[in-house]
Amino acid sequence: MTTQETLFSKIIRKEIPADIVYEDDLALAFRDIHPQAPAHILVIPKQPIAKLADAESEDHALMGHLLLTVKRVAEQLGLSNGYRVVINSGSDGGQTVDHLHLHILGGRQMKWPPG
Ligand code: AMP
Repeated sequence: MTTQETLFSKIIRKEIPADIVYEDDLALAFRDIHPQAPAHILVIPKQPIAKLADAESEDHALMGHLLLTVKRVAEQLGLSNGYRVVINSGSDGGQTVDHLHLHILGGRQMKWPPG
């Protein structure tokens, strides 16, 4: 299932500014506007899948690409001591933007459990 237009679609089309750290044909990575850690990056598919729960089996290659993009961006940012990857899916998951995104959080010690 795809989604309606969100502000992330506008970031993909460069209609609103973002601090882009990586881009390829399938994915875009940019700094979160309200960082929760010294490094806080969002990795998104250019294809507007609303949330993880909406991903289909035909999206499996794209899903793998997004995870490998997380790894690439984390290396690029020098997060050699580790990092956390978070996907909020849907209302109970705390998702606020209806375009699938993977948070990369790093640069400090993470705690568990998350809130
Ligand atoms: P979530 O709560 O998982 O849906 O995460 C959405 C994230 O998008 C939040 O961490 C926001 O701070 C971030 N965000 C919202 N608008 C922008 C923007 N224009 N540029 C960068 N990050 C944004």
